[in-house]
Amino acid sequence: MSKAVFFDRDGTINVEVGYLSNFDQFEWIDGAIDAIKFCNRNGYLAIVVTNQSGVARGYYTEADVVKLHNRINEELAKHGAHIDDFFYCPHHPNGAVERYAVDCQCRKPKPQLILDACRKYSIDKSQSIMIGDAQRDVDAANNAGVRGVLFDGINLLNTLKSALDRNDYNLD
Ligand SMILES: [Mg+2]
Ligand SMILES: [Zn+2]
Repeated sequence: MSKAVFFDRDGTINVEVGYLSNFDQFEWIDGAIDAIKFCNRNGYLAIVVTNQSGVARGYYTEADVVKLHNRINEELAKHGAHIDDFFYCPHHPNGAVERYAVDCQCRKPKPQLILDACRKYSIDKSQSIMIGDAQRDVDAANNAGVRGVLFDGINLLNTLKSALDRNDYNLD
């Protein structure tokens, strides 16, 4: 079994700008690169779990989402860090693009993205946490059986370390 830290994306690893699709608008949250690096060095998969209803709304495409995620990992590589995988929900019940305009099972606070990741990587949910800046992130975590941690938006590494310390996780 592996263990993971699930991260929300917008407002958690990057500054929330509203329907981010272009890396030119991408700005790291303080401590985000170090938090990801901390996961890489301490035996946690770093997995992003993000609602991207901009796809359903027609603001950008799934290809744009994937391109941005690849670009994020290129940037992290310069710091010797990486996101292990990205899981995203492109849906919204009121979307303008018909095939994405569904009441899906993956849009947070629903747990499907986290559950899919847990299955793919044989993740031990009891050893894993999810950090996000919105209550629906915490709810998605809890709905998946993973402990959810609300991020105050200040420094992601500090939030991660205190979250893991609090349950006596091994930080070696
Ligand atoms: Mg967010
Ligand atoms: Zn979905």
